Amino acid sequence: MPSVLIAGGGLAGLSAAAALGGTGFEVELFEARPFLGGRATSYELPGETVDNCQHILLRCCVNLLDFYERLGVRDRIRFYREFYFLEPGGRISVLRRGRLPAPFHFTESFLRMACLNRADKLGIVRALMAIRRERTRRKDLDRISMLDWLLQKRQTPRAIDRFWRQVLVSAVNEDLDHMAAIHGFHVFWLGFLARADSYEMGVPAVPLAELYTADAWQRLGSVRMHLRCPVERIEDSGFTVDGARRAADYYICALPFERLEAVGLPAPRFEHSPITGVHLWFDREVTTLPHATLLDRTMQWMFNKDRGRYLQLVVSASRDLTNLSRNEIIEIAVGDLRLYFPRVRDANLVKAHVIKEQRATFSAAPETESLRPAAQSGFPNVFLAGDWTRTGWPATMEGAVRSGYLAAEAVAKKAGDPARFLLPDIA
Ligand SMILES: Cc1cc2nc3c(=O)[nH]c(=O)nc-3n(C[C@H](O)[C@H](O)[C@H](O)COP(=O)(O)OP(=O)(O)OC[C@H]3O[C@@H](n4cnc5c(N)ncnc54)[C@H](O)[C@@H]3O)c2cc1C
Repeated sequence: MPSVLIAGGGLAGLSAAAALGGTGFEVELFEARPFLGGRATSYELPGETVDNCQHILLRCCVNLLDFYERLGVRDRIRFYREFYFLEPGGRISVLRRGRLPAPFHFTESFLRMACLNRADKLGIVRALMAIRRERTRRKDLDRISMLDWLLQKRQTPRAIDRFWRQVLVSAVNEDLDHMAAIHGFHVFWLGFLARADSYEMGVPAVPLAELYTADAWQRLGSVRMHLRCPVERIEDSGFTVDGARRAADYYICALPFERLEAVGLPAPRFEHSPITGVHLWFDREVTTLPHATLLDRTMQWMFNKDRGRYLQLVVSASRDLTNLSRNEIIEIAVGDLRLYFPRVRDANLVKAHVIKEQRATFSAAPETESLRPAAQSGFPNVFLAGDWTRTGWPATMEGAVRSGYLAAEAVAKKAGDPARFLLPDIA
């Protein structure tokens, strides 16, 4: 069978390996670090395994779910049907689907949301209908920012802050004024309008690293993983690993874009956008909510990781936190939590951990989409994958898996096999 070497054991490289291994290719994957998963993985702390940051998906992430199915771990994703919008003071607004069909499935709960007033809601409904109309018609959605588009649609400041920003900054990892409108459209169309269940939020019930264990790979044919094996150079004649040449029929580079130059490939000039994860362990239960989006403050999302005592907080596009110390960030996090969860005032913080990912994703800024390369590199037998390639999605786990499947399809096609791995979007 044809052989393939893959550089990079993040979701892009892993999904390419799963697809090609599952159709009989001889696959070898080289990962620089001692574990798989790339940016979607877990760390060992003393007595604890923690994710670098909570990773969530939506039901419309069909390729990611297909990848989990291939690994036999799809049942480890727990889906939630409620979004909780929490105001300082503790008032909760719940968004969930009701009895009406899409795109009207949120009507009942949306009308009841206390964190928005009538004018905010009327504006949001008008804008959602405009997304349906304009998403295939407007040609400038990659050139204008989401904020400009929302202002064109006369959204109220509160609708922007408490609805659009709250959903989109975490979904796209960019501020509304830095985010190309095309990504905001994508998230709202697929996640909120196209199908009644597509918004359901999937949260891994196990640490991320447990999704890619060696057992899972047994079922995927001939896939060999080489950990702690950085690829030094990628050419059409082979990979250089530890000074030695490794040759195969085909090659996939599934490295982050900032690593391409180091292996001899041209790299696109994207900016990065950071994400900060804050892990807090309290001596008692401080909330019973499974998760919530936190309005009006610095911390954006809360995930209840263990009986209301271990909470994980996430701040996307977290440039404002870049220059703050660990202690300053913890102080802000605990201060914010006191406003939403009164029980935090009486609780003691037992342990805290901050992970700043300065290179979390590329910045989905206007004019970036057309710069994202497809799977074809300049070489006929070398293909590109990674969340930064042209996947049609923002930098997400779904985007990374799509890129892996697209690169795998390109390899299969070259090998004379018209295999299809990529599943189409739900709409
Ligand atoms: C903090 C944070 C929170 C996030 N939250 C979410 C979320 O909630 N939902 C969501 O969908 N997405 C989220 N994302 C984005 C998601 O994690 C990424 O889009 C996705 O994991 C990228 O996968 P990838 O395979 O393209 O790249 P990577 O995961 O970066 O994989 C590249 C791999 O290449 C390896 N490598 C580098 N150099 C070499 C070399 N020379 N040789 C061999 N290997 C090398 C790296 O070690 C890495 O394992 C988040 C990202 C971060 C950082």
